[in-house]
Amino acid sequence: MEPLRLEQDKLDKKGSLSKTIDHVQKTIDLLVAARQAIAADASARGPTLAKLKRPVKASLDQVNSDIKDIYSAHKDYSKALDKKFKPQAMPTSQHDALASQPALTNRAIAMHLLREGQFNVAQTFIAEANANPNTAATRDGQDGDSLMKDNNPTHIYDMDRDSAGALQSSFAHMYLVLDALRNDHNLNPAIDWARQHSHQLDLRGSNLEFDLCRLRFVELYTQHNPDDPMSGPLRALEYARHTFPNFSARYMRETSSLLGSLAFAPALTSSPYKSVFFNHDAWEHAASSFIREFCAMLGLSEKSPLYTAATAGAIALPVLEKLERVMGEVGGQWTSVNELPVEIPLPHSYLFHSIFVCPVSKEQGTDANPPMMLPCGHVIAKESLEKISRGNKRFKCPYCPVEGHPKEARKVFL
Ligand SMILES: [Zn+2]
Repeated sequence: MEPLRLEQDKLDKKGSLSKTIDHVQKTIDLLVAARQAIAADASARGPTLAKLKRPVKASLDQVNSDIKDIYSAHKDYSKALDKKFKPQAMPTSQHDALASQPALTNRAIAMHLLREGQFNVAQTFIAEANANPNTAATRDGQDGDSLMKDNNPTHIYDMDRDSAGALQSSFAHMYLVLDALRNDHNLNPAIDWARQHSHQLDLRGSNLEFDLCRLRFVELYTQHNPDDPMSGPLRALEYARHTFPNFSARYMRETSSLLGSLAFAPALTSSPYKSVFFNHDAWEHAASSFIREFCAMLGLSEKSPLYTAATAGAIALPVLEKLERVMGEVGGQWTSVNELPVEIPLPHSYLFHSIFVCPVSKEQGTDANPPMMLPCGHVIAKESLEKISRGNKRFKCPYCPVEGHPKEARKVFL
């Protein structure tokens, strides 16, 4: 890694164009001055232009030499990169589960662009993907498969122009609210949105509406205008009287605690309320909570699935690469395409599905061997159930005295 770091330092040192900007500005200044001189006195044209030639050439030469430095630093850096990271084929290229699903891949990319606010790029992408429906953006020349052509719909599923447009205007609204919240500390659009969706938010157990109103309370409280005796804590109190009763008993403790802060108004920084009133993370917290709830209302996850998949893939890549290398060396092959023969450690936030391991056979549940709940409530794998019921006979649960018949067992969906 050391040579790479050295090249990186060199690039940082040489890669700056700030010097070049000065040189370009010098050239512009020279040209502007000459134009003014000629405009003021047309007869000065000849001598002015003659005088201009040398300094302009000198400053342009300087610009060129600056660029040459940057160019050579970039070249050295990419050489060092190539040396460090030798080009390798992507592992699992034989088991590309996405190859047969160009429409799904395109849809994921289009959705990602829309939710990132890249609306123009998304529109162009959707138009091009719909024009070439059987080609995923990630791979070229995959459209020769006639089977695929027959089976797949001819556009990106529900990613047609209308639904993409509706999604785009939804996300445009989300970015408007977020911009106000993050950059202007303006709570109004977010509070309006939360009020409109108050019922759904409540059903989801979300605190967003209350969190936003609490931020407003804190904001009013701390905005003290010496010319307005009603500003500051008094205005906050007025707001609280008006707004807090709308919140159900769920927030009784929080609202009475906020009102209690009024007693500490003269010395808030040394009061128990310090963390509520001087919490710099509160705005970012409200913003991310807003994104989560907004996406949930659209039936979408908080983070773009493409982002999650690509990040998880990048984390898993070294393990997969090693696996494929070792398998290649010992001449082994993956027998089951849907299951990896090794565990891929991923951070907790990347685990979305619960895994069932049968307590009898110690095997992980699969589609073919799903978890089954026995009449007593204990859960074992289907194959274990078949074993203990010896085909289809009454059996006793391996974990309690309750007896049952395989017919009474229910498949469990995790
Ligand atoms: Zn049992």
